[in-house]
Amino acid sequence: MKYPKLRELVEAIKAVLKGPYTSKFPAKPYVPHPNFRGQVVYDEDKCLGCLACVEACPANALAFEDIIEGEGVPKRVMIHYTDTCIFCGVCVDTCIRETGDTGIVQTNEWELSYFDRADAFETIEKELQLCEYCGVAIGTKDHLVWLAEKLGELSYSNPTLYLSRLKELGLVDENITTVYKDDGRSDRVKILCAECRRRTTTYPEE
Ligand code: SF4
Ligand code: SF4
Repeated sequence: MKYPKLRELVEAIKAVLKGPYTSKFPAKPYVPHPNFRGQVVYDEDKCLGCLACVEACPANALAFEDIIEGEGVPKRVMIHYTDTCIFCGVCVDTCIRETGDTGIVQTNEWELSYFDRADAFETIEKELQLCEYCGVAIGTKDHLVWLAEKLGELSYSNPTLYLSRLKELGLVDENITTVYKDDGRSDRVKILCAECRRRTTTYPEE
């Protein structure tokens, strides 16, 4: 007869005294370790909609859609596909906001079953800033204001940034800019995309 080794006896006694190592899930809810890396979730108030995390996600679990036409204000919809996410945390590390104040955070949520895979996503919405000349999306309003605040007085070298900041503060009369479009001087002091900024700064095209 083969006798158990001392180490195995110790483990057996420990198991009797402390109970099994495995959890009783699903009979009892499983509480993961506090450091467990679970699902990431967007924080609508903190996220700027800058898309840095979308670019960095190695699993293509993040996406966005700009909705410009239709009713309501133009908006950017940030999408997190929870069925594709591998909980790696790269998006949290990549976020342009400071650590501890990021626009996407890692939770220790792990129970993510769905009846229909098409429901496995979450979204947040950010208001878009459109070019006041041609109407393309420049970025989100929150992102432009964040950039202007970050740059401080340097933002005054860029009318798009300082106008975004002043509008946020309610210090700019919307009527200050003319609706007349001449691709030149009258359009300089407007919130413009990079292409329209170039056209109004250099000579208008023939
Ligand atoms: S945790 Fe990783 S896989 Fe999931 S959204 Fe963030 S970067 Fe993508
Ligand atoms: S602010 Fe952070 S979470 Fe929001 S889009 Fe930018 S990188 Fe992603």
